[in-house]
Amino acid sequence: MDIRVSDILQMKKPHPCSGREFLVMRAGMDFKLKCIHCGHEFMAKRSKIEKNIKNIVRKEL
Ligand SMILES: [Zn+2]
Repeated sequence: MDIRVSDILQMKKPHPCSGREFLVMRAGMDFKLKCIHCGHEFMAKRSKIEKNIKNIVRKEL
């Protein structure tokens, strides 16, 4: 799955704050994501993230 820094991930499962969109801050074996709704940043394993992705939004430059 092609996921890049600055992509926005729309997830199947919402964050506890009810937000479903997360900004990719770092991509690799582990991902660093930021919840756009509440601003919380967290690390998560790539495999776990990929299973939960509903859609990827990329802003074309
Ligand atoms: Zn949140």
